[in-house]
Amino acid sequence: MMDATKLPVVEILSLIDDGKLSSEELVKAYRAALEGDRASAKPLNAYVEFFDDAGDLARAADARRKAGERLPLLGVPFAVKDNISIAGRALTCASDILEGYTSPYSATVIERLVAAGAIPVGRTNMDEFAMGSSCEYSRYGATRNPFDRDRTPGGSSGGSAVAVAAGMAAFSLGSETGGSVRLPASFCGLYGLKPSYGRLSRYGLVAFGSSLDQIGICARTAGDAALILSVAAGRDDHDETSADAPVPGARLEALPRGLAGLRVAVPGEFSGIGTDPEVASAFERVISLFEKAGAAVERISFPLLKSCIALYYIIAPAEASSNLARFDGIRYGARVDGGKGLFSLYSVTRDRGFGPEVKRRIVVGNFVLSSGYVDAYYKKALAVRTLLVRELTGLFGRFDLLLSPTSPTPAFRIGEKVDDPVAMYLSDLCTTFANLAGVPALSIPAGATKSGLPIGVQIAGKLFSEPLLLGTAAALRGEGL
Ligand code: GLN
Repeated sequence: MMDATKLPVVEILSLIDDGKLSSEELVKAYRAALEGDRASAKPLNAYVEFFDDAGDLARAADARRKAGERLPLLGVPFAVKDNISIAGRALTCASDILEGYTSPYSATVIERLVAAGAIPVGRTNMDEFAMGSSCEYSRYGATRNPFDRDRTPGGSSGGSAVAVAAGMAAFSLGSETGGSVRLPASFCGLYGLKPSYGRLSRYGLVAFGSSLDQIGICARTAGDAALILSVAAGRDDHDETSADAPVPGARLEALPRGLAGLRVAVPGEFSGIGTDPEVASAFERVISLFEKAGAAVERISFPLLKSCIALYYIIAPAEASSNLARFDGIRYGARVDGGKGLFSLYSVTRDRGFGPEVKRRIVVGNFVLSSGYVDAYYKKALAVRTLLVRELTGLFGRFDLLLSPTSPTPAFRIGEKVDDPVAMYLSDLCTTFANLAGVPALSIPAGATKSGLPIGVQIAGKLFSEPLLLGTAAALRGEGL
């Protein structure tokens, strides 16, 4: 049998249509890849659970197809970050505090994908509560990068990226609060889409920073990402922040004139920030591809981009400290009763249940919200965020795209930043602005270092410009990227 494990969704569907591949065979092949990997010296640790009944679900999809049913994703297996609810399945956010918890309902995005015939085959590893950039802060241990097993896959949706990169799923869902899909996608050679805020329903996604969170997509091609987005997107009455914007089509929309005439801004703020020389040269190559194809690339200055890490690491922890208050040992997951009344039950449960990075966020969040500091930190950050949105809106009046590396460096080593929170936070240097402003951004594979580590570049556009971003990615590929 052919090796179907690395095929994009679009090709899988056409092979299944032609009767050359079945969904059951595909799930078997993913499971075999996973089992082979588990037996290796340094397992990737992409999945925290591969569902026992995934094969049964695939067989059922094959039967529906045989019976003549046609659905956009019928029989396509996908992996799901362990912070997105799937009814009847465990969900832990890689945290001890959710041990024993089962989702009573499915996220809207899962429901839509399942209604389109797709099959969730397992839950993937992540940084606890999606707080991290390396997929190391997890109760299940670190996930490894398939291109170099001593390196991280990026985080926090590291397991979702690795499941696709290592041929254990056709595509995957992750979550984005400050770059958690784009960073691992760039470290693992994949397309990583952070949709516009409101594009995908957040219902059923465990909240981290509610004004920043979006479910994101990891895919092998831009066309796959477009197809998945078209199925999952759209207004949802369960999420008041979901947008009533027209849903993009399933087919990648070709740009009328290719890349010619596109106005591309390259902000200087993202260079000279400790950028790895190989990342810098891959990035310059993308710029020249744009130019050769007739795009107008302009180097600009956008000073506010320099403030985004500071803004993000005030606003995200502030929202997290409030969102995570619900994990109190009463309603969800694990409970540790200190035997000294309710207060001790709360505090012992939270002390045992949360890992150090989550505790750090809660402490930072409470600090920036506390009286005496709220004006200096949280409210100031909100004011600057408003400014960022305004200036970025102006920028996207003059330019179609903002182009940057996804990360200043390729995948870093496991253990390299784990004890240095600021170094870890700086991995998000190029990504957080999109979450703060709500605009869509896409990480695109842009070659590799000499030692074979993938490099990603990022394009961002105005609100709801996903078709332009995905079309640009496909056009860049046509230009030889
Ligand atoms: N790395 C960032 C953080 O630790 C972003 C995480 C995310 O996007 N979920 O908060």
